[in-house]
Amino acid sequence: MLVYLVVDRPQWTEYDATAADGPVARLSEPKNYRDGPDPSDRTVLCAEVPADVGDAAWSLADDDLGSLVRARQLDLPDSPAPVAVETRRLPRVYPRYRVGFAADLAGLEAWAAGQPRLLTFGRQGLFVPDNTHHALAMGDAAAAALGPDGAFDEGSWVAARDGFRSHVVED
Ligand SMILES: Cc1cc2nc3c(=O)[nH]c(=O)nc-3n(C[C@H](O)[C@H](O)[C@H](O)COP(=O)(O)OP(=O)(O)OC[C@H]3O[C@@H](n4cnc5c(N)ncnc54)[C@H](O)[C@@H]3O)c2cc1C
Repeated sequence: MLVYLVVDRPQWTEYDATAADGPVARLSEPKNYRDGPDPSDRTVLCAEVPADVGDAAWSLADDDLGSLVRARQLDLPDSPAPVAVETRRLPRVYPRYRVGFAADLAGLEAWAAGQPRLLTFGRQGLFVPDNTHHALAMGDAAAAALGPDGAFDEGSWVAARDGFRSHVVED
């Protein structure tokens, strides 16, 4: 779940993102990531709160989620008093590795490999935690394997897919 605290201050921290623990996995201040048309007098903090669909945290009201985030010790200068709390609940973002997932994944990949007009890649397609630049690199490699005549270079794609295994999440 992404819990956004809208704060009446131009900037809260000098950091783009900071790791946390407990109910908040990470806190970011998106305004610090970019130069853009952000309002000059306020900023937004984004807390990432891990949850499963339907669990106790998932079912909390937005204001209660805001309070939960504020109650955490987040190494902030002081506790943010938000003028608004917004949330987005995303049901499928991280691959969850339960015991036995590798055999299930191998079965799916074997099936997908037998489909001549289908490629699987990306975070959900390969079931890997990754970063945006990894996802972009996979898309580039898939496009590069496709010739102007529509022919697909299986060899370069297989080599590229092997290379994807070396992707390591950067924070
Ligand atoms: C909370 C969080 C913070 C992150 N922060 C960063 C960061 O700061 N920097 C960074 O580089 N990376 C970050 N990442 C990782 C980054 O988001 C991923 O690497 C990237 O989004 C992967 O792109 P993708 O296209 O492979 O998969 P996704 O972005 O997951 O796209 C898959 C899409 O498929 C859709 N989908 C799934 N199942 C189905 C279905 N059955 N039918 C139709 N559609 C379906 C999903 O809704 C989704 O839109 C973060 C990830 C999370 C979860």
